[in-house]
Amino acid sequence: MDAVTIIAKKRDGQELSPEEIRFFIRGYTQGDIPDYQAAAWCMAVYLNGMSRREITDLTLAMAESGEVLDLSGIIGYVVDKHSSGGVGDKTTLVVLPLVVACGVPVAKMSGRGLSFSGGTLDKLESISGYRAELSREEFFAQLRQHGIVLCGQTADLAPADGKLYALRDVTGTVPSKPLIASSIMSKKIAAGAQGIVLDVKCGVGAFMPTLEDARELAQIMVDIGSRAGRQVTALISDMNQPLGFAVGNALELREAIETLRGEGPEDFIEHCVVVAGHMLRLAGKAKTDDLSDIRPVLHEKLRNGEAWEVFKRLVKAQGGDLTQVEDPRKLPTAPLIVTVPAPRSGYLEGINAREIGMAALYLGAGRLKKGDPVDHAVGIVVHHKVGQYVESGEPLFTVHARTEEAAQKATRQVLAAHTWSERPGLPLFYDVILSGSS
Ligand code: URA
Repeated sequence: MDAVTIIAKKRDGQELSPEEIRFFIRGYTQGDIPDYQAAAWCMAVYLNGMSRREITDLTLAMAESGEVLDLSGIIGYVVDKHSSGGVGDKTTLVVLPLVVACGVPVAKMSGRGLSFSGGTLDKLESISGYRAELSREEFFAQLRQHGIVLCGQTADLAPADGKLYALRDVTGTVPSKPLIASSIMSKKIAAGAQGIVLDVKCGVGAFMPTLEDARELAQIMVDIGSRAGRQVTALISDMNQPLGFAVGNALELREAIETLRGEGPEDFIEHCVVVAGHMLRLAGKAKTDDLSDIRPVLHEKLRNGEAWEVFKRLVKAQGGDLTQVEDPRKLPTAPLIVTVPAPRSGYLEGINAREIGMAALYLGAGRLKKGDPVDHAVGIVVHHKVGQYVESGEPLFTVHARTEEAAQKATRQVLAAHTWSERPGLPLFYDVILSGSS
């Protein structure tokens, strides 16, 4: 078996055998197959696609390229979630405590933001002292003692994905459904998940711009899960406008804290309840597919402070300053806070999530390249949702900036991201695909 023959086979649109896929992934991970051959192979996959069987074999080969965690000795049923990335998506900060408050321990490895899309670890690191990087021993000890962990990757999980993702990023092959699906699912399988809730974002602020694309990606991942013996629920959610109101690390953390204290934005609460509800359904704590039994329980956990107590337990366990969480005014705050009024009256037709994410990125909330430092204090808070009627002169959004020049640039960009008309609002979720459906 050799790499050139495998590349040529995919170039000619043929199906690769499980052995060929394993050979290629093993060879690339070990450095026997160089980047230029892997890049040619990625482009062949991008152009010619893969069968569901090939995608499953690729996912398993990538998952098995490093350590595969087994948490079953600590957690009865290992449930995890993954968002395909978005703007204002602070869901994990609320969903994890909610699920744990319902009696299901969760250990989640999250990522950092890249480009316009935020990352959970950057948000958590707005809290002084919060340790996102834990050793394996700390990870397991905290899970045993507190039943909740939220950190960066501890083990050498799916190293093939790490290498391939970096290569795809610079060879124009990121937006390939087989490559995205195998990338996401290999990490979840390597992290030991038995049940996985995927939040596949769809819209201008997401990898999948159309509902059709998002649905196909979701169905591929549900199929991989079924073939690999995992239960998967894929939600297809809107990412045309930011989720909630806040975009930027400490600003999003504040909104998550408000939500955990029972006072968050309606769309964000609903989003968290649906994601947490599906995680609990997979873990056997909710019996109905429409979540009618678990919804009231989840709302009660937000109202009665139980989820909030779990969040504080998490922050304390990972070394974060609890006084900042209890009084979010102590979180990093930008020196310049400018509220911009609506330039006209009318219904909001759109609040372009990508443009808001880019404005926050340029303010310093994200990274233009991997490894750049982030400014936890800066970002944007929009004051309305799509479909709402706004009077001229009412506050439209607030910019939290480091300098006057940055504030002015963000103001122009965020104003242009708001479009106006007489249209009704966008839906929050478009579809739910459960294991066993196709
Ligand atoms: N998220 C991932 O983990 N991988 C992709 O390829 C795209 C989004």
